[in-house]
Amino acid sequence: MDTLISADRLLTGPAGQQLTDAAVLVRGDRIVAVGGRDELRQQARAGSDEQHHSDATLLPGLINTHLHLVADASRDPFGAFRTSTPEAVFEAMADRALQALDAGVTTIRDLGDGHGLAFALRNEIASGTRPGPRILAAGTPLTPPDGHCWFLGGVVEGPDAIRARIRELADAGADVIKVMAGGGQTTPGGASPWESQFTLDELRLIVAEAGAVGLPVAAHAHGTQTITDCVAAGVRTIEHCGWRGGSGKPDRRDDVARRMAAAGIYAGDTTPPNWPAFAARIPFPPGHRLGDQLPWMDSLGVPIIIGTDSGMPGAVFNDFVSALEMYTELGFPNDRILQFATANAADALGLSAVTGCLAAGLAADLLVVDGDPLTDLQTLRRPRLVMARGRIHHSSAQQSEEETTADV
Ligand SMILES: [Zn+2]
Repeated sequence: MDTLISADRLLTGPAGQQLTDAAVLVRGDRIVAVGGRDELRQQARAGSDEQHHSDATLLPGLINTHLHLVADASRDPFGAFRTSTPEAVFEAMADRALQALDAGVTTIRDLGDGHGLAFALRNEIASGTRPGPRILAAGTPLTPPDGHCWFLGGVVEGPDAIRARIRELADAGADVIKVMAGGGQTTPGGASPWESQFTLDELRLIVAEAGAVGLPVAAHAHGTQTITDCVAAGVRTIEHCGWRGGSGKPDRRDDVARRMAAAGIYAGDTTPPNWPAFAARIPFPPGHRLGDQLPWMDSLGVPIIIGTDSGMPGAVFNDFVSALEMYTELGFPNDRILQFATANAADALGLSAVTGCLAAGLAADLLVVDGDPLTDLQTLRRPRLVMARGRIHHSSAQQSEEETTADV
C-alpha cells in the first residue's frame, strides 16, 4: 500500500535543500517520489493512506555512526556481556536498538561487539523478523595482545593473524572492519589513549586486506601520531579523532588534517549524550574544551560524522539529541549538524544510495517532528512519527530525567 506523508516543511538534504508544503510518497520500504502534495496524490495508487502534519517538519531519519549494542552504559559496560548468557545479551541488544529507533535514529553502526551478536540482530531486523533500525556491524575489533578491548575476542598478532581475522570477519558478514589503532580508556593496563597499538605497515595491511574483501576500515584513534598513520594507511573513518599528543594535550597538525580532507577520510566524532559531565572529568589545558577540534577540522575541510559511543558509561541509547547539542555550543548551525547526522553519515558508511536524504529510490527512513529543527534542535526530541524502511514506529516519548542523567 502507498502512504503519502506531507508536512509544512521537508528537509530533503543535504544541508540547504528544502521544500515547503510538500510530501513523500512511500511504497513498501521505499520512497518513490518527493514533491508537491497534490502532484504526488495523483501518483499514489488507489486506496493509499494519507497523513498530513501541520506545524511540522519531515526529514531523513538520523544516523548514529558509532555505538556498542553489547555494552549497557553502566560503570562496568561489558560486565553483563561477560557474565550473562548470549541469549540474554542478545535480547538486551535488541532493546537498545529499539531505544535508538524510538529517538529517531533509523541507522546505527555498531563498532565492536563479541560472539557475532550484532550480525545476528542486524539480520533479524533486515529480514523483518524484528522491528529496529538498520544496523551496520563491525563484529569484533582487531586489537593486539592485551590491547584495547582485547576481551571482546579480536586479538591479532602479526600479518598472518591479521589476514586470517579479516577473512573470518568478512565470512561472518562484517559491514566494516574496526581496528583499535590506538589505546583507549576502558582497558586497564593497556596502551594509553594517545599511544598507537599497530604500526603503519600493519594498518596498511589491514586496509589492503579489508579492501580485498570489499570492506572499509574504521579506526579507533585518539592520538595525533595514530591519526597520522591512519590517514597514511587510508582508512575510511577515524573514530574519536581527538588529536592528542604524547602527554595527552591537544596536538593539531594542519598538514595531516588537510591530507585527511583531501583523501575524504571522515572524522567519526564520538560525543556521548552526557557530554557536559564527561567533559567535566577531563582536565583540559587553558583555552581548550571538549570538541574544539571539530570546528578546526571543519575549517580545513575534514568531513564530520557523529556517533555517541552509546554503551560506554553513561552513554545511553535513547538520546541522540543531547550529543547534537554540543555542536550548537561549538557554533555549528543546525542545518549543518543535521547534515553531519544524515547525508554525511550515509556517505561515510557507503549508504548514499540507500538512505540519508529524502529522495526517490532511497529507503523510507524518515521522521516527522513538531516545529522546525533548523531553528530548534529540541524539536527532534519527540518525533511525531518515525519510519524505518517503510515501517511505522511511534516515538515512545517517555524518556525520563532519570534515564538521561543515568550514571553521569
Ligand atoms: Zn566505541
